Amino acid sequence: MKQFVDVVLPLPIPGLFTYSFNEADVEHLKIGVRVIVPFGKKKYYTAIVVKLHTNAPVGYTVKPIFSILDDTPILLAEQLKFWNWLSSYYLAALGDVYKAALPSGLKLASETIVELNLDYIGTPDLTDRETKLLDLLSEDPIQSVTKLIKDSGIENILPIVNKLLERGALMLREELKNNYKPRLETRVRLTSTYQTNEAIEPLFDQLGNAPKQLDLLIKYIDLSRFFAQGDPKEVTRFRLLEQANASGSSLKGLVDKGVFEEYEIEIGRLGGGLADIDDLHSLSRVQNQALQEIQAALADKPVCLLQGVTSSGKTEVYIHLIQEAINNGKQVLYLLPEIALTTQITSRLKRVFGDKLGVYHSKFTDAERVEIWKKQLSDEPYQIILGVRSSIFLPFQRLGLIIVDEEHESTYKQYDPAPRYHARDAAIVLAHLYDARVLLGTATPSVETWYNCQTQKYNLVQLTERYKEIKLPEILPVDVYDLKRKKIMKGQFSPLLLSLMRETLDKKEQIILFQNRRGFAPMVECNTCGWVPKCTNCDVSLTYHKRLNELTCHYCGYTYQLPTVCPACEGVDLTFKGFGTEKVEAEIKELFPDASVARMDLDTTRTRTSFERIIADFEEGKTNILIGTQMVSKGLDFDHVSVVGILNADTMLNYPDFRAYERSYQLMAQVAGRAGRRGKQGRVVLQTRSMDHPIIPQVINNRYEEMVASQLEERQLFHYPPFYRLIYVYLKHRDEKKLDFMAQHMATALRGAFGARVLGPDKPPVGRIQLLYIRKIVLKIERNISMPQVKEVLLKIKNNMIRDKNFKSLIVYYDVDPM
Ligand code: ADP
Ligand code: ZN
Ligand code: ZN
Repeated sequence: MKQFVDVVLPLPIPGLFTYSFNEADVEHLKIGVRVIVPFGKKKYYTAIVVKLHTNAPVGYTVKPIFSILDDTPILLAEQLKFWNWLSSYYLAALGDVYKAALPSGLKLASETIVELNLDYIGTPDLTDRETKLLDLLSEDPIQSVTKLIKDSGIENILPIVNKLLERGALMLREELKNNYKPRLETRVRLTSTYQTNEAIEPLFDQLGNAPKQLDLLIKYIDLSRFFAQGDPKEVTRFRLLEQANASGSSLKGLVDKGVFEEYEIEIGRLGGGLADIDDLHSLSRVQNQALQEIQAALADKPVCLLQGVTSSGKTEVYIHLIQEAINNGKQVLYLLPEIALTTQITSRLKRVFGDKLGVYHSKFTDAERVEIWKKQLSDEPYQIILGVRSSIFLPFQRLGLIIVDEEHESTYKQYDPAPRYHARDAAIVLAHLYDARVLLGTATPSVETWYNCQTQKYNLVQLTERYKEIKLPEILPVDVYDLKRKKIMKGQFSPLLLSLMRETLDKKEQIILFQNRRGFAPMVECNTCGWVPKCTNCDVSLTYHKRLNELTCHYCGYTYQLPTVCPACEGVDLTFKGFGTEKVEAEIKELFPDASVARMDLDTTRTRTSFERIIADFEEGKTNILIGTQMVSKGLDFDHVSVVGILNADTMLNYPDFRAYERSYQLMAQVAGRAGRRGKQGRVVLQTRSMDHPIIPQVINNRYEEMVASQLEERQLFHYPPFYRLIYVYLKHRDEKKLDFMAQHMATALRGAFGARVLGPDKPPVGRIQLLYIRKIVLKIERNISMPQVKEVLLKIKNNMIRDKNFKSLIVYYDVDPM
C-alpha cells in the first residue's frame, strides 16, 4: 500500500518533502494535485504531489497532509518533467520553479493576504464555514490567512479560502496593486442624420473633392455592411483607418462634418475586442516559399530559424503556421519578449483566430491568470496562447508548435529571482517534451542561434525582402562629435534630424525618437566640488525625474528629494548631466510646440492600459512623435513612421559586456526597422560619436552576416558562448570585508575543481545593490564537458559554504547562461 507522498513546496529550499496520508485518500491522491500541508511552526502551504510511495522516511516523524484541494491534477506530467529540467539546468530549487510557475491564487499559504470582494453577492449554497469567514472579513476586509485561522478557530482553512476565491467572494491583496482597469475601444458609426440610404447617397458627390474622406466612407460602408439587410456591424476606429489606409485627421474631417461619430466601448476580461473577423491574408510568392521551406525544415529538425528583415511579413507566415497547427488539432504557444508588443499582435491574431486565442502575462490580474490556467486544463483550452516568458509555465494538453518571436531579445532571460531561465532555450526543451516544433523568428538572430544554424543543429529559412517591395530604410549617420565641436547641435538634436522632423510633421507623417535611458538626467553633479548624489543602498548615482521632482535609484527604486544646496560644499550650482527620455520629451515639446508628443518607457507604462493607450494613440495618428527606450524597438508595426532618430548610438556600444557589439547592432537595426513600413522608404538618423566604428557601416548596409562572423571569431578567441558555456557565481553580503574573504574562499574551492576555467572574484560595475555588496566569479566551461557533473560539483561547493558557520548570511547563487 502506498502511504506517503513527496511534495514540492513553494519555498526556495532544495529537495522534496514527505508527508503521510489516510488510507481513504489513496484514490484521490494523484501526481499533480494540490494538497495543504503544515510546514514549520503553524504554517500552511499549498504543495503539489510529485510522488506516491511506501518508503517511510527515517530520522523524523512524518506529518500527515492536511487536506486535498483538487480532484484532478493541476500540473500535467510534461510540466513536472519541465520543472525538473529547469531546476537542474538552471541550478534552482524545484520550489523556486513552482513559485515562478503558478499564479498566486493557486498557491495559497498562511501568509497570503486576502480581501473581501465588496461586489460579491452571496449565494444560498454557501456553507456555514464559508459564511463564517465572510462575516469575519466584513468586519475587517483585509486579513492574512493566519489571522483568519486564529479568529475563526478553523485550523484547516485554506481549502475554504480557496473555495471563496473560486466563487469570486475574495481577492488576493496583490491584485489591487495591479491597478486593473477594463480596456476601452473606440468605434465609429454614422450619425443619426446619415443612417438611411437616401441621406448617404448625396455624400458621394459632396466628398468628391476630399478623396481620403470618400475612401473612409466607402470603407465604412463596406465593413459595416451598411447596404446589407439588418443592422450595420460595428466598426472599430483602428480597423477603419487601417483598411482605408487613412489618417486620424481625415476621419476627424468627417466627424466635424457631422457624418461620423466616435464612441467608446469597454472590452471584457478574457473575451477581448470586437469579433472583427479577418481571413488569412494570402501570402506573397516569397512568403509562400518561406512557409514551405519552414514546413520542410520542421519535418527535418525540431527547431528552425526564420530570419526575415523587418516588415518582411514574418508575422503573416506565423499566422499560416498557426492555422495549420490548429487544423491538425494541436496547440500553439506564441512567445514575445515584451508585454508592450502583445497589444498589436493580439489584435492581429484575434482577427483571424477569435476566441481560440488566450493572452497571458503579468499585467493581467492574478484572478485572470488562474482562470486561464484552469481553462488550459479543461476540455476547451485555448488553442493559441500568446504571452511573454512566463507563459511557458502554462499547462498544454496537445502542444504542437512554439513560435519565439524576436528570439534575440535578452528580455527572454529571467534575471531575478530564481529560476534564472532563458525562455527561448526553455521553450525548446518544453517543445521536445511534447514532440512539438519550434520556430525562432527575428531580423537579427542572436549569435548563439546563428551558430546553431551554421552547425546544422537548427535549420535556417530567410526572407530577404520587405512585403510589397517596400525598401529598407535609408540610414543617415551623423557625427555628433564634430557637430558639438562646431557648436551646431541643438541640445540632443542634429540639424539633419530637426529638418527631417519638420518635413515629416508638415506632411502629417510620424516620427520615433529612440533614447536608451529613462528619466530626465542620469546624473546630477555639483559644479563647485563635483559631488554626485548616490543611492544609500546601492553603488550607483541617482537619476533625476523632473515631473516628480525627485531622484530615483534605478536599481532599488528608492527615491530621494533633490537637494537645493550641495551637502558637501553648500554650493547651489547643481547641474544635470546626460539626458533621458523625459528630457528629450521636454526639449521636443519646446522645439515643436504644435506637435503631439508621447513617451513610452518604464515610467509611463506601469499599467496594461497605459501601454495600449500609447500604442493606440500612435497607431491612430493622435500622436505625431513617439519618444521611447528600447521598448519602441521591438517589432512594433506602425504605418506612417517616416523618420526614426537614434539619438545616441554609443551608450550601448560602450557597455562593458561581451555582447555589447551584438546588442548594439540588433538594437539599431530593430529601431531603424520601425521606419517606412507601408508606402515608401523611411529615413533613420543615426547620431553617434564613433563614426569610425565598424558597426556603423554594418548597420547602414544591413551587413548582419559580416557582423556575426566577426563576433563569432572573437567569441572563439576569448572563450565565450556559443563556444563555451558561462556560469556566473554571485556572492552577496552586507559586510564588504567579509564578502571579499568569502569570495576568495569560494574561488579557491572552484579552482580546485575547475582550474583555470575560473575567473575572479571581481567587483561588478554596480558593486552594491540594496545594501548588499556583490562579487562575481565567472566560470567558462567547454561545450563538450558533461554539465550534470559540473552542476553536481557546483551545488556541493555552494552547500558546503552555506552550511559553514563562517559564512553566515552569505547569499550565493549561480546564473547559468547569463545574458
Ligand atoms: P514582420 O513580422 O516581418 O516585421 P509583418 O508580418 O508585421 O512583418 O508585416 C509588415 C506589414 O505588412 C504588416 O502590416 C502586415 O499586415 C503587412 N503584410 C505582410 N505580409 C502580408 C500579406 N501577405 N498580406 C497582407 N499584408 C501583409
Ligand atoms: Zn559641492
Ligand atoms: Zn538603490
